[in-house]
Amino acid sequence: MTRRSPLFVGNWKMNKNALQTRSFVESFLPLAENLPANVGIAIAPPFTALAAAAAALRSGSRVALAAQTMSEFSEGAYTGEIAASMLAEFNVAYVILGHSERRFYQRESDATIGAKVRAALDAEITPILAVGESLEVREAGNAVAHVLAQIQAATGELTEAQAARIVLAYEPIWAIGTGKNCDRDRAQEIARAARSARRAFADIPILYGGSMKPENAAGYMEMPDIDGGLVGGASLEAHSFARLIAGAIAR
Ligand code: PEP
Repeated sequence: MTRRSPLFVGNWKMNKNALQTRSFVESFLPLAENLPANVGIAIAPPFTALAAAAAALRSGSRVALAAQTMSEFSEGAYTGEIAASMLAEFNVAYVILGHSERRFYQRESDATIGAKVRAALDAEITPILAVGESLEVREAGNAVAHVLAQIQAATGELTEAQAARIVLAYEPIWAIGTGKNCDRDRAQEIARAARSARRAFADIPILYGGSMKPENAAGYMEMPDIDGGLVGGASLEAHSFARLIAGAIAR
């Protein structure tokens, strides 16, 4: 079991409008308030629901807000983009960067992701850097090398102090949304390699993501280098997400 504080982040992707977000928060907050204080909890609604989530969570809430992405630029002619300072207006504490869906659909490169990580840190928003390999890479035996290369590309320019302020999320692409979660020993192998990549990563939270469910979450938490979860589908329903967290930290 990890000695670091657990962290669970719900990545809602393109799900829930403002009304649905308010209703989730109203159901989830009382459940979250029963969870131990050392457990970090965040939800990442779509941008259009951040205001509703921020209002429903109120300041000092047990549940933090996360964004699903942000621009690497601070302002200007970038149609459709959202700057870190705009997220800060809603007390956004975390931003997910480098999710495989953004790498694929928006063709985000490692260089862009690295610039976003630096912009988030500059704005005092904690980047959750998502990394992970495809099935093809896994089957070729290159998963560890691939993930380490992604981490190096996105964080290589950070100082030690900056690197110690990030969160890493290992999300094998083949496990996301497929119901085929990664074997926990394999996830631990990657988490260990990632943690060992840099002294600054010794105490950062490393999350597992990829079909994490109430039934399998506890197994990951028994791994020494896994500190929580980046949860997609199972975070969309308040009771399911609360049950997942409660079960994960029970042992
Ligand atoms: C994700 O998209 O970050 C994710 C882990 O999704 P799921 O839990 O649905 O696999």
